[in-house]
Amino acid sequence: MFNGNLLTTPQPQSADCNLSIANHLPVKAGMKTPGACGFLYGSVSRFQFSVGGAISVLQFSLPIGLSANICGMKLGLRLVISMLFSALSVRAQSKPLVFNNVDVFDGYHILRGRTVTVEDGMIRSVTAAGVRPPDSAVVIDGAGRTLLPGLIDAHVHIGREESLEQAAALGVTTVLDMWGDPTTLIPLKKEIERGEHPNAADFRTAGTGATVPRGHPTQMAGPEFPTLGAGDNVQAFVDARFAEGSDYLKIIYDHFLPTLSAEQLHALVLAVHKRNKLVVAHEGTQSEGLEEMRAGVDGIEHIFDDTPISREFLDTAVVSHAVFTPTLSIIQAVGGKPTGSVLATDPRFEPYILGWAFQILTTKLPESLTKKHHYENAQAAVRALHNAGITILAGTDSPNPDTSYGVSLHQELLLLTECGLSNEEALRAATSSPAREFGLVDRGRIETGRRADLLLVKGDPSKDIRATRDIVGVWKMGIAIHREEVAKRAAESRKNRQN
Ligand SMILES: [Zn+2]
Repeated sequence: MFNGNLLTTPQPQSADCNLSIANHLPVKAGMKTPGACGFLYGSVSRFQFSVGGAISVLQFSLPIGLSANICGMKLGLRLVISMLFSALSVRAQSKPLVFNNVDVFDGYHILRGRTVTVEDGMIRSVTAAGVRPPDSAVVIDGAGRTLLPGLIDAHVHIGREESLEQAAALGVTTVLDMWGDPTTLIPLKKEIERGEHPNAADFRTAGTGATVPRGHPTQMAGPEFPTLGAGDNVQAFVDARFAEGSDYLKIIYDHFLPTLSAEQLHALVLAVHKRNKLVVAHEGTQSEGLEEMRAGVDGIEHIFDDTPISREFLDTAVVSHAVFTPTLSIIQAVGGKPTGSVLATDPRFEPYILGWAFQILTTKLPESLTKKHHYENAQAAVRALHNAGITILAGTDSPNPDTSYGVSLHQELLLLTECGLSNEEALRAATSSPAREFGLVDRGRIETGRRADLLLVKGDPSKDIRATRDIVGVWKMGIAIHREEVAKRAAESRKNRQN
Protein backbone atom coordinates (compact mmCIF):
# COMPACT_ATOMS: atom_id res chain seq x y z
CA MET A 1 0.00 0.00 0.00
CA PHE A 2 2.95 2.25 0.30
CA ASN A 3 4.15 4.19 -2.65
CA GLY A 4 7.72 3.67 -3.62
CA ASN A 5 8.52 7.33 -3.28
CA LEU A 6 7.93 7.60 0.43
CA LEU A 7 11.22 7.13 2.05
CA THR A 8 11.38 8.43 5.53
CA THR A 9 10.99 5.44 7.75
CA PRO A 10 13.25 5.55 10.78
CA GLN A 11 15.58 2.63 10.83
CA PRO A 12 17.14 0.75 13.68
CA GLN A 13 20.38 2.32 14.78
CA SER A 14 23.55 0.40 15.20
CA ALA A 15 23.45 0.76 18.97
CA ASP A 16 20.23 -1.17 19.06
CA CYS A 17 20.44 -3.38 16.07
CA ASN A 18 23.33 -5.00 14.38
CA LEU A 19 21.78 -4.02 11.10
CA SER A 20 22.71 -0.43 11.23
CA ILE A 21 20.88 1.93 9.01
CA ALA A 22 20.75 5.67 9.05
CA ASN A 23 17.64 7.34 10.25
CA HIS A 24 15.28 8.72 7.66
CA LEU A 25 17.30 7.01 5.06
CA PRO A 26 16.26 7.84 1.55
CA VAL A 27 15.72 4.64 -0.31
CA LYS A 28 16.39 4.57 -3.98
CA ALA A 29 16.18 1.94 -6.61
CA GLY A 30 19.29 -0.15 -6.53
CA MET A 31 20.47 1.14 -3.18
CA LYS A 32 21.72 -1.34 -0.64
CA THR A 33 22.37 -0.86 3.01
CA PRO A 34 23.73 -3.28 5.51
CA GLY A 35 21.36 -5.45 7.35
CA ALA A 36 18.30 -7.53 7.38
CA CYS A 37 16.34 -5.03 9.42
CA GLY A 38 16.73 -2.50 6.70
CA PHE A 39 14.27 -3.33 4.04
CA LEU A 40 11.94 -4.73 6.61
CA TYR A 41 11.56 -1.62 8.65
CA GLY A 42 11.81 0.50 5.63
CA SER A 43 8.98 -1.13 3.83
CA VAL A 44 7.83 2.25 2.86
CA SER A 45 6.92 1.23 -0.55
CA ARG A 46 3.71 -0.61 -0.47
CA PHE A 47 3.85 -3.31 2.10
CA GLN A 48 6.07 -6.09 2.73
CA PHE A 49 5.70 -9.50 1.52
CA SER A 50 3.73 -12.33 2.61
CA VAL A 51 4.50 -15.82 3.52
CA GLY A 52 3.46 -19.24 2.82
CA GLY A 53 5.26 -22.43 3.06
CA ALA A 54 5.61 -25.51 4.97
CA ILE A 55 6.65 -25.19 8.52
CA SER A 56 9.40 -27.17 9.99
CA VAL A 57 8.81 -28.27 13.52
CA LEU A 58 11.98 -27.32 15.28
CA GLN A 59 14.90 -28.78 13.41
CA PHE A 60 12.74 -31.21 11.55
CA SER A 61 11.12 -30.11 8.38
CA LEU A 62 7.99 -32.16 8.50
CA PRO A 63 6.04 -32.17 5.30
CA ILE A 64 2.71 -30.50 5.69
CA GLY A 65 -0.06 -30.47 3.23
CA LEU A 66 -2.15 -27.54 2.22
CA SER A 67 -4.37 -26.23 4.94
CA ALA A 68 -7.43 -27.87 3.47
CA ASN A 69 -5.75 -31.22 3.80
CA ILE A 70 -4.76 -30.96 7.43
CA CYS A 71 -6.96 -33.40 9.20
CA GLY A 72 -7.28 -36.87 10.55
CA MET A 73 -4.31 -39.15 10.73
CA LYS A 74 -1.90 -36.74 9.13
CA LEU A 75 -2.52 -34.18 11.82
CA GLY A 76 -2.22 -36.75 14.56
CA LEU A 77 1.10 -38.01 13.33
CA ARG A 78 2.54 -34.56 13.05
CA LEU A 79 1.37 -33.69 16.51
CA VAL A 80 3.14 -36.61 18.10
CA ILE A 81 6.37 -35.93 16.27
CA SER A 82 6.35 -32.21 16.93
CA MET A 83 5.68 -32.60 20.61
CA LEU A 84 8.42 -35.16 20.95
CA PHE A 85 11.04 -32.84 19.51
CA SER A 86 9.62 -29.79 21.24
CA ALA A 87 10.13 -31.43 24.57
CA LEU A 88 13.73 -32.22 23.76
CA SER A 89 14.75 -28.89 22.40
CA VAL A 90 14.52 -26.31 25.16
CA ARG A 91 15.74 -26.23 28.73
CA ALA A 92 13.45 -28.12 31.05
CA GLN A 93 10.75 -26.77 33.29
CA SER A 94 11.76 -27.78 36.82
CA LYS A 95 8.52 -27.83 38.82
CA PRO A 96 4.92 -28.47 37.84
CA LEU A 97 3.00 -25.27 37.23
CA VAL A 98 -0.68 -25.11 38.13
CA PHE A 99 -3.15 -22.39 37.16
CA ASN A 100 -5.93 -22.76 39.66
CA ASN A 101 -9.56 -21.72 39.17
CA VAL A 102 -8.87 -19.87 35.94
CA ASP A 103 -11.05 -19.14 32.94
CA VAL A 104 -9.44 -20.62 29.84
CA PHE A 105 -9.60 -19.55 26.21
CA ASP A 106 -8.62 -22.89 24.72
CA GLY A 107 -7.96 -21.59 21.21
CA TYR A 108 -11.61 -21.80 20.23
CA HIS A 109 -13.89 -21.02 23.19
CA ILE A 110 -13.93 -19.77 26.76
CA LEU A 111 -14.07 -22.48 29.42
CA ARG A 112 -14.99 -21.29 32.90
CA GLY A 113 -13.31 -22.27 36.15
CA ARG A 114 -10.57 -24.70 35.14
CA THR A 115 -7.34 -25.98 36.61
CA VAL A 116 -4.51 -26.22 34.08
CA THR A 117 -1.45 -28.27 34.98
CA VAL A 118 1.85 -27.88 33.13
CA GLU A 119 4.77 -30.29 33.39
CA ASP A 120 7.96 -30.65 31.37
CA GLY A 121 6.96 -27.76 29.15
CA MET A 122 3.70 -29.32 28.10
CA ILE A 123 0.07 -28.98 29.19
CA ARG A 124 -0.61 -32.13 31.17
CA SER A 125 -4.26 -31.61 32.07
CA VAL A 126 -7.19 -29.22 31.89
CA THR A 127 -9.72 -30.16 34.54
CA ALA A 128 -12.51 -28.68 36.61
CA ALA A 129 -11.27 -26.23 39.25
CA GLY A 130 -10.59 -27.61 42.72
CA VAL A 131 -8.28 -30.50 41.85
CA ARG A 132 -5.50 -30.64 44.43
CA PRO A 133 -2.17 -29.69 42.84
CA PRO A 134 0.99 -31.72 43.52
CA ASP A 135 2.87 -30.51 46.65
CA SER A 136 5.86 -29.55 44.54
CA ALA A 137 3.83 -27.40 42.17
CA VAL A 138 4.06 -23.66 41.70
CA VAL A 139 0.40 -22.60 42.01
CA ILE A 140 -0.91 -19.47 40.34
CA ASP A 141 -4.26 -18.08 41.36
CA GLY A 142 -6.50 -17.70 38.34
CA ALA A 143 -9.46 -15.96 39.98
CA GLY A 144 -10.65 -13.07 37.81
CA ARG A 145 -8.09 -13.99 35.18
CA THR A 146 -8.05 -15.70 31.78
CA LEU A 147 -5.41 -18.12 30.49
CA LEU A 148 -4.85 -18.10 26.74
CA PRO A 149 -2.45 -19.84 24.38
CA GLY A 150 0.58 -17.62 23.78
CA LEU A 151 -0.46 -15.33 20.93
CA ILE A 152 0.83 -15.80 17.38
CA ASP A 153 1.58 -12.82 15.12
CA ALA A 154 1.26 -14.20 11.60
CA HIS A 155 3.12 -11.36 9.86
CA VAL A 156 6.23 -9.66 11.19
CA HIS A 157 9.81 -9.00 10.11
CA ILE A 158 12.54 -9.71 12.59
CA GLY A 159 16.19 -8.85 12.89
CA ARG A 160 17.55 -10.44 16.03
CA GLU A 161 16.46 -11.77 19.38
CA GLU A 162 15.60 -8.46 20.99
CA SER A 163 12.62 -8.13 18.66
CA LEU A 164 11.46 -11.54 19.78
CA GLU A 165 11.92 -10.67 23.43
CA GLN A 166 9.74 -7.60 23.10
CA ALA A 167 7.08 -9.75 21.45
CA ALA A 168 7.20 -12.44 24.13
CA ALA A 169 7.10 -9.97 27.03
CA LEU A 170 3.85 -8.69 25.55
CA GLY A 171 2.26 -12.12 25.21
CA VAL A 172 3.25 -13.06 21.66
CA THR A 173 5.16 -16.34 21.98
CA THR A 174 5.35 -17.20 18.26
CA VAL A 175 5.82 -14.99 15.22
CA LEU A 176 5.86 -15.75 11.54
CA ASP A 177 8.53 -13.75 9.75
CA MET A 178 7.41 -12.81 6.27
CA TRP A 179 10.76 -11.95 4.68
CA GLY A 180 14.05 -11.78 6.43
CA ASP A 181 17.74 -12.32 5.96
CA PRO A 182 18.40 -16.06 6.23
CA THR A 183 22.04 -15.52 7.15
CA THR A 184 20.82 -13.87 10.35
CA LEU A 185 17.60 -15.71 11.02
CA ILE A 186 18.56 -19.34 10.46
CA PRO A 187 21.38 -19.22 13.06
CA LEU A 188 19.04 -17.34 15.43
CA LYS A 189 16.42 -20.02 14.99
CA LYS A 190 18.92 -22.69 15.94
CA GLU A 191 19.96 -20.70 19.01
CA ILE A 192 16.37 -20.49 20.15
CA GLU A 193 15.92 -24.19 19.59
CA ARG A 194 18.91 -24.77 21.84
CA GLY A 195 17.28 -22.60 24.51
CA GLU A 196 19.82 -19.78 24.25
CA HIS A 197 17.25 -16.98 24.32
CA PRO A 198 14.73 -18.03 26.95
CA ASN A 199 12.89 -14.70 26.82
CA ALA A 200 12.49 -14.72 23.04
CA ALA A 201 9.41 -15.71 21.10
CA ASP A 202 9.71 -18.70 18.81
CA PHE A 203 9.53 -18.03 15.08
CA ARG A 204 9.32 -19.38 11.58
CA THR A 205 10.61 -17.52 8.57
CA ALA A 206 10.08 -17.08 4.87
CA GLY A 207 13.73 -16.08 4.56
CA THR A 208 14.29 -14.57 1.15
CA GLY A 209 11.12 -14.37 -0.88
CA ALA A 210 10.50 -14.38 -4.60
CA THR A 211 10.76 -11.17 -6.55
CA VAL A 212 12.33 -10.01 -9.80
CA PRO A 213 15.45 -7.90 -10.36
CA ARG A 214 14.52 -4.29 -9.42
CA GLY A 215 11.26 -5.55 -7.91
CA HIS A 216 10.11 -4.86 -4.37
CA PRO A 217 11.98 -4.94 -1.98
CA THR A 218 15.23 -4.45 -3.89
CA GLN A 219 14.71 -0.69 -3.53
CA MET A 220 14.82 -0.96 0.23
CA ALA A 221 17.77 -0.95 2.56
CA GLY A 222 19.10 -4.42 3.21
CA PRO A 223 21.58 -7.02 2.13
CA GLU A 224 21.81 -8.34 -1.39
CA PHE A 225 19.51 -11.24 -2.08
CA PRO A 226 18.83 -13.49 -5.06
CA THR A 227 16.00 -12.59 -7.43
CA LEU A 228 14.14 -14.49 -10.11
CA GLY A 229 14.98 -13.24 -13.59
CA ALA A 230 12.90 -13.74 -16.72
CA GLY A 231 14.62 -16.87 -17.95
CA ASP A 232 15.58 -18.33 -14.60
CA ASN A 233 14.64 -21.84 -13.50
CA VAL A 234 11.76 -21.41 -11.08
CA GLN A 235 12.08 -24.80 -9.41
CA ALA A 236 15.79 -24.24 -8.82
CA PHE A 237 15.04 -20.85 -7.25
CA VAL A 238 12.42 -22.35 -4.95
CA ASP A 239 14.59 -25.30 -3.99
CA ALA A 240 17.43 -22.94 -3.10
CA ARG A 241 15.17 -21.05 -0.68
CA PHE A 242 14.17 -24.19 1.17
CA ALA A 243 17.74 -25.44 1.15
CA GLU A 244 18.87 -22.27 2.93
CA GLY A 245 16.19 -22.65 5.59
CA SER A 246 12.98 -20.96 4.52
CA ASP A 247 9.97 -22.54 6.19
CA TYR A 248 7.61 -21.34 3.46
CA LEU A 249 7.88 -19.15 0.38
CA LYS A 250 6.67 -15.60 0.13
CA ILE A 251 5.94 -14.11 -3.27
CA ILE A 252 5.94 -10.43 -4.16
CA TYR A 253 3.42 -9.77 -6.89
CA ASP A 254 2.97 -6.03 -6.89
CA HIS A 255 3.08 -3.82 -9.94
CA PHE A 256 4.24 -0.60 -8.34
CA LEU A 257 7.72 -1.81 -9.28
CA PRO A 258 8.81 -4.45 -11.80
CA THR A 259 7.25 -7.71 -10.71
CA LEU A 260 6.81 -11.35 -11.62
CA SER A 261 4.92 -12.28 -14.74
CA ALA A 262 1.66 -14.15 -14.33
CA GLU A 263 3.47 -17.21 -15.70
CA GLN A 264 6.19 -16.93 -13.06
CA LEU A 265 3.55 -16.50 -10.34
CA HIS A 266 1.84 -19.72 -11.35
CA ALA A 267 5.14 -21.54 -11.79
CA LEU A 268 6.30 -20.51 -8.31
CA VAL A 269 3.14 -21.84 -6.69
CA LEU A 270 3.51 -25.13 -8.53
CA ALA A 271 7.19 -25.39 -7.63
CA VAL A 272 6.50 -24.81 -3.93
CA HIS A 273 3.62 -27.27 -3.82
CA LYS A 274 5.79 -29.81 -5.57
CA ARG A 275 7.94 -29.69 -2.43
CA ASN A 276 4.87 -29.97 -0.18
CA LYS A 277 5.42 -26.53 1.30
CA LEU A 278 3.25 -23.48 1.74
CA VAL A 279 3.35 -20.35 -0.41
CA VAL A 280 1.86 -16.98 0.40
CA ALA A 281 1.70 -13.82 -1.63
CA HIS A 282 1.86 -10.11 -0.92
CA GLU A 283 -1.21 -8.36 -2.23
CA GLY A 284 -1.10 -4.71 -3.21
CA THR A 285 -4.36 -4.27 -5.10
CA GLN A 286 -7.59 -6.19 -5.41
CA SER A 287 -6.72 -7.35 -8.93
CA GLU A 288 -3.35 -8.68 -7.75
CA GLY A 289 -5.02 -10.59 -4.93
CA LEU A 290 -7.43 -12.09 -7.42
CA GLU A 291 -4.60 -13.30 -9.63
CA GLU A 292 -2.78 -14.73 -6.63
CA MET A 293 -5.78 -16.74 -5.53
CA ARG A 294 -6.24 -18.03 -9.07
CA ALA A 295 -2.59 -19.09 -9.09
CA GLY A 296 -3.34 -21.23 -6.03
CA VAL A 297 -1.45 -19.53 -3.23
CA ASP A 298 -2.11 -20.77 0.30
CA GLY A 299 -2.23 -17.35 1.90
CA ILE A 300 -2.76 -13.71 1.02
CA GLU A 301 -0.78 -11.15 3.01
CA HIS A 302 -2.34 -7.70 3.59
CA ILE A 303 -5.73 -6.63 2.36
CA PHE A 304 -6.26 -4.28 -0.55
CA ASP A 305 -7.79 -0.87 0.02
CA ASP A 306 -7.82 0.46 -3.53
CA THR A 307 -11.38 -0.51 -4.42
CA PRO A 308 -14.49 -1.91 -2.72
CA ILE A 309 -14.42 -5.70 -2.66
CA SER A 310 -16.06 -7.16 -5.75
CA ARG A 311 -18.40 -10.12 -6.04
CA GLU A 312 -15.78 -11.75 -8.28
CA PHE A 313 -13.12 -11.45 -5.56
CA LEU A 314 -15.40 -12.84 -2.89
CA ASP A 315 -16.57 -15.73 -5.05
CA THR A 316 -12.97 -16.57 -5.91
CA ALA A 317 -11.97 -16.46 -2.24
CA VAL A 318 -14.76 -18.85 -1.32
CA VAL A 319 -13.60 -21.50 -3.79
CA SER A 320 -9.91 -20.79 -3.11
CA HIS A 321 -8.23 -22.44 -0.15
CA ALA A 322 -6.30 -19.26 0.67
CA VAL A 323 -6.37 -17.80 4.15
CA PHE A 324 -6.06 -14.04 4.66
CA THR A 325 -3.71 -12.15 6.96
CA PRO A 326 -5.00 -8.61 6.42
CA THR A 327 -2.44 -6.84 8.65
CA LEU A 328 -4.98 -4.14 9.49
CA SER A 329 -2.48 -2.50 11.85
CA ILE A 330 -0.37 -1.26 8.95
CA ILE A 331 -3.30 -0.81 6.57
CA GLN A 332 -4.95 1.49 9.06
CA ALA A 333 -1.75 3.51 9.44
CA VAL A 334 -1.33 3.79 5.69
CA GLY A 335 -4.96 4.86 5.53
CA GLY A 336 -4.19 7.84 7.72
CA LYS A 337 -5.50 6.54 11.04
CA PRO A 338 -2.37 6.15 13.18
CA THR A 339 -2.59 4.64 16.66
CA GLY A 340 1.08 4.01 17.41
CA SER A 341 1.65 7.07 19.59
CA VAL A 342 -1.23 6.10 21.86
CA LEU A 343 -0.05 2.49 22.06
CA ALA A 344 3.56 3.55 22.70
CA THR A 345 2.66 5.49 25.83
CA ASP A 346 0.29 2.88 27.25
CA PRO A 347 1.92 1.94 30.58
CA ARG A 348 1.09 -1.72 29.88
CA PHE A 349 3.30 -1.65 26.77
CA GLU A 350 5.77 1.18 27.13
CA PRO A 351 8.30 -0.44 29.51
CA TYR A 352 8.97 -3.29 27.06
CA ILE A 353 9.42 -1.29 23.85
CA LEU A 354 12.98 -1.02 22.49
CA GLY A 355 14.35 2.41 21.62
CA TRP A 356 14.34 2.03 17.85
CA ALA A 357 11.03 0.21 17.99
CA PHE A 358 9.52 3.08 19.95
CA GLN A 359 10.64 5.51 17.28
CA ILE A 360 9.13 3.44 14.49
CA LEU A 361 5.91 2.93 16.44
CA THR A 362 5.47 6.67 16.83
CA THR A 363 6.33 7.47 13.21
CA LYS A 364 3.44 8.93 11.28
CA LEU A 365 3.12 8.37 7.58
CA PRO A 366 2.86 11.54 5.49
CA GLU A 367 -0.42 12.78 4.16
CA SER A 368 0.91 12.58 0.61
CA LEU A 369 0.74 8.82 1.08
CA THR A 370 -2.24 8.35 3.34
CA LYS A 371 -4.60 10.43 1.23
CA LYS A 372 -4.26 7.84 -1.55
CA HIS A 373 -5.55 5.05 0.68
CA HIS A 374 -9.00 4.05 1.78
CA TYR A 375 -9.11 2.07 5.00
CA GLU A 376 -12.86 1.67 4.74
CA ASN A 377 -12.34 -0.54 1.67
CA ALA A 378 -9.99 -2.76 3.67
CA GLN A 379 -12.43 -3.02 6.57
CA ALA A 380 -15.31 -3.86 4.25
CA ALA A 381 -13.22 -6.51 2.51
CA VAL A 382 -12.28 -8.23 5.78
CA ARG A 383 -15.88 -8.09 6.94
CA ALA A 384 -17.10 -9.66 3.69
CA LEU A 385 -14.41 -12.35 3.68
CA HIS A 386 -15.11 -13.24 7.29
CA ASN A 387 -18.85 -13.38 6.69
CA ALA A 388 -18.18 -15.70 3.76
CA GLY A 389 -16.33 -18.10 6.06
CA ILE A 390 -12.78 -17.30 4.95
CA THR A 391 -10.14 -17.92 7.62
CA ILE A 392 -8.59 -14.69 8.88
CA LEU A 393 -5.23 -14.61 10.67
CA ALA A 394 -3.95 -11.85 12.94
CA GLY A 395 -0.76 -10.25 11.69
CA THR A 396 0.70 -6.80 12.14
CA ASP A 397 3.59 -6.25 9.68
CA SER A 398 5.71 -4.99 12.56
CA PRO A 399 7.99 -3.14 12.56
CA ASN A 400 6.63 -0.85 9.92
CA PRO A 401 5.72 2.73 10.82
CA ASP A 402 3.02 2.89 13.50
CA THR A 403 3.49 -0.79 14.44
CA SER A 404 5.64 -2.78 16.84
CA TYR A 405 6.19 -6.30 18.13
CA GLY A 406 3.66 -7.51 20.65
CA VAL A 407 2.03 -4.11 21.03
CA SER A 408 0.35 -4.14 17.65
CA LEU A 409 -1.06 -7.63 17.90
CA HIS A 410 -3.30 -6.49 20.76
CA GLN A 411 -4.41 -3.63 18.52
CA GLU A 412 -4.92 -6.03 15.60
CA LEU A 413 -7.36 -8.04 17.72
CA LEU A 414 -9.39 -4.88 18.28
CA LEU A 415 -9.28 -3.97 14.59
CA LEU A 416 -10.50 -7.43 13.64
CA THR A 417 -13.49 -7.09 15.96
CA GLU A 418 -14.26 -3.77 14.27
CA CYS A 419 -14.59 -5.79 11.04
CA GLY A 420 -17.22 -8.02 12.56
CA LEU A 421 -15.24 -10.85 14.13
CA SER A 422 -16.51 -11.75 17.57
CA ASN A 423 -13.97 -11.52 20.38
CA GLU A 424 -13.54 -15.30 20.36
CA GLU A 425 -13.10 -15.29 16.57
CA ALA A 426 -10.44 -12.59 16.84
CA LEU A 427 -8.63 -14.61 19.51
CA ARG A 428 -8.76 -17.69 17.27
CA ALA A 429 -7.11 -15.57 14.55
CA ALA A 430 -4.13 -15.11 16.88
CA THR A 431 -3.97 -18.65 18.32
CA SER A 432 -5.50 -21.82 16.90
CA SER A 433 -6.00 -20.56 13.34
CA PRO A 434 -2.40 -19.57 12.50
CA ALA A 435 -1.15 -22.67 14.31
CA ARG A 436 -3.37 -24.87 12.17
CA GLU A 437 -2.75 -23.10 8.89
CA PHE A 438 1.03 -23.00 9.27
CA GLY A 439 1.35 -26.52 10.63
CA LEU A 440 2.37 -25.44 14.14
CA VAL A 441 0.31 -28.22 15.53
CA ASP A 442 2.07 -28.29 18.89
CA ARG A 443 0.69 -24.90 19.95
CA GLY A 444 -2.12 -22.39 19.64
CA ARG A 445 -4.48 -24.33 21.92
CA ILE A 446 -4.81 -25.14 25.58
CA GLU A 447 -5.40 -28.86 25.85
CA THR A 448 -3.51 -31.87 27.07
CA GLY A 449 -0.37 -32.53 25.04
CA ARG A 450 0.15 -29.04 23.61
CA ARG A 451 3.17 -26.85 24.29
CA ALA A 452 2.77 -24.76 27.41
CA ASP A 453 3.12 -21.42 25.64
CA LEU A 454 0.70 -19.43 27.75
CA LEU A 455 -0.56 -15.92 28.41
CA LEU A 456 -2.34 -15.03 31.66
CA VAL A 457 -4.33 -11.79 31.69
CA LYS A 458 -6.62 -9.98 34.07
CA GLY A 459 -10.27 -9.92 33.10
CA ASP A 460 -12.05 -11.64 30.26
CA PRO A 461 -11.04 -10.89 26.66
CA SER A 462 -14.13 -12.71 25.40
CA LYS A 463 -16.10 -9.79 26.85
CA ASP A 464 -13.55 -7.00 26.39
CA ILE A 465 -10.94 -7.68 23.73
CA ARG A 466 -8.64 -5.08 25.30
CA ALA A 467 -8.23 -7.37 28.31
CA THR A 468 -5.37 -9.15 26.50
CA ARG A 469 -3.29 -6.03 27.27
CA ASP A 470 -3.56 -6.53 31.04
CA ILE A 471 -0.81 -9.13 31.18
CA VAL A 472 -0.13 -11.01 34.42
CA GLY A 473 2.47 -13.39 33.00
CA VAL A 474 3.77 -15.15 29.90
CA TRP A 475 5.26 -18.66 29.70
CA LYS A 476 7.17 -20.40 26.94
CA MET A 477 7.16 -24.18 27.29
CA GLY A 478 6.20 -23.77 30.92
CA ILE A 479 9.04 -21.37 31.76
CA ALA A 480 8.13 -17.80 32.64
CA ILE A 481 9.29 -15.06 30.31
CA HIS A 482 11.32 -12.74 32.55
CA ARG A 483 9.45 -9.62 31.63
CA GLU A 484 11.52 -7.48 33.98
CA GLU A 485 14.70 -8.52 32.12
CA VAL A 486 13.10 -7.52 28.85
CA ALA A 487 12.02 -4.21 30.37
CA LYS A 488 15.56 -3.60 31.57
CA ARG A 489 16.99 -4.24 28.13
CA ALA A 490 14.34 -1.98 26.59
CA ALA A 491 15.17 0.80 29.06
CA GLU A 492 18.87 0.55 28.18
CA SER A 493 18.00 0.61 24.52
CA ARG A 494 15.98 3.80 24.90
CA LYS A 495 18.71 5.38 27.01
CA ASN A 496 21.37 4.56 24.44
CA ARG A 497 19.23 6.08 21.78
CA GLN A 498 18.84 9.32 23.67
CA ASN A 499 22.59 9.67 24.30
ZN1 LIG B 1 5.48 -7.49 5.79
